[in-house]
Amino acid sequence: MFLRILVFALVQALAGLLGWFWLGWPGALLGTVIGASATLALDSWRGLRLLRWLREPGLSSPPVLRGLWGEAGYRVMRLLRAERRRADDSAQRLEDFLSAIQASPNGVILLDPEGRIEWCNDIAGQHFGIDPRRDLLQHIGNLVREPAFTAYYAGGNFEREVKLIGRADAPGHPVKLSVQLYPYGDDHKLLLSRDVTALAQADAMRRDFVANVSHEIRTPLTVLAGFVETMQTLPLSEAERASYLSLMAAQSERMQTLVNDLLMLSRLEGSPLPSASDTIDLPALMAQCEVEARGLSNLLHPADERPQRLVFGPPPRFTLAGAGSELRSAFSNIINNAVRYTPGGGTIEVACERLPDGRARLSVSDSGPGISPEHLPRLGERFYRVDRSRSRESGGTGLGLAITKHVLQRHGGELQVSSQPGKGSCFALLLPAHRVRSLNAPAGARP
Ligand code: ADP
Repeated sequence: MFLRILVFALVQALAGLLGWFWLGWPGALLGTVIGASATLALDSWRGLRLLRWLREPGLSSPPVLRGLWGEAGYRVMRLLRAERRRADDSAQRLEDFLSAIQASPNGVILLDPEGRIEWCNDIAGQHFGIDPRRDLLQHIGNLVREPAFTAYYAGGNFEREVKLIGRADAPGHPVKLSVQLYPYGDDHKLLLSRDVTALAQADAMRRDFVANVSHEIRTPLTVLAGFVETMQTLPLSEAERASYLSLMAAQSERMQTLVNDLLMLSRLEGSPLPSASDTIDLPALMAQCEVEARGLSNLLHPADERPQRLVFGPPPRFTLAGAGSELRSAFSNIINNAVRYTPGGGTIEVACERLPDGRARLSVSDSGPGISPEHLPRLGERFYRVDRSRSRESGGTGLGLAITKHVLQRHGGELQVSSQPGKGSCFALLLPAHRVRSLNAPAGARP
């Protein structure tokens, strides 16, 4: 500022001096006036340039100006740059925030005080069939028309959630949503939607399971209680007592088998995955299964009936890495099923082979009644039976294939079933190549 006054005074003095030399005192006065006017004009021109620049819409770099105006331009530019940086940071933060909500597994919709959509993520779009761009500013009530939601929205009590059917719901593909509104800010609302289909299904499965277990246990228990009561109240002959006791033993054995299968299932669900370094003795396991199957076959088809023909292939030249007790249970389940469901005179063939892609395949083919195609997808569901009476008669629990499937899943394998009603069935266990070991290779080495 001091410099500015000094320059102004110097210009006046110089112009006055020049005027005095030229025209004397009137010239000095004239020179001072001209000097002052020129300084003022230059100053105004600089100020105007700065003003014109400030009026520019984009505000590029400021004009090059000297002195006070130059500094003013420079400082305005610095302020503007800081402001732009702050605005960019805020925009970036908002962008990051919206991306985070976009990545959320839940649906999020922001509603204005009138209930119109201000923003919505893609998941919410899928849940309610909303287009996150096209449907902006549409009233939520026009897009989510389920009566349960309309009543919930109109009720104004948002402390609880409401259960709705998702837009993608279709026969055989249920979609259940849990939706809740959270008021925030100035009468705005946040709508959160969660896909609870799996939870609802798990809940229904749990209820079915408890009902099935209770039913399976109640039947033999009722029979047992009836016999106990009979034995307590009626005078029975020794032969009758013996017959009742053997029937009671059969019922308690049925309950025991059921409880053992249930415990096996719960162990499979709760225990860590089988290690890939422990190898089992597959040939010994197959031999054990063969003894068990022949014993069961003789029991179910005594000598006076037509016997079954059990054909076991040559012992495998490979073994498997995994949990021995689990694999034994899976193998014996499908072998014993074939024995139990194939009538006398039928043939059961068991084979162990290694497929060209390195996987192991243990297959059991029978000439039994076969299974209609509509039942095949449901085999392996807990307590799902095709032939209820045959299953119960032969001591089945309805859990054998569920256990088998679970064991295979834990070993990275799969169950393949092919069947033709009236002709027979083939159940095959496929185990992945990384669990197969050549028997001539050192234990634990990969084939
Ligand atoms: P279960 O203890 O009743 O045998 P599983 O889970 O082992 O239970 O089998 C489920 C159902 O699949 C059986 O009830 C039976 O109806 C059918 N099934 C299984 N194996 C065979 C087979 N080899 N031949 C015909 N039906 C079979």
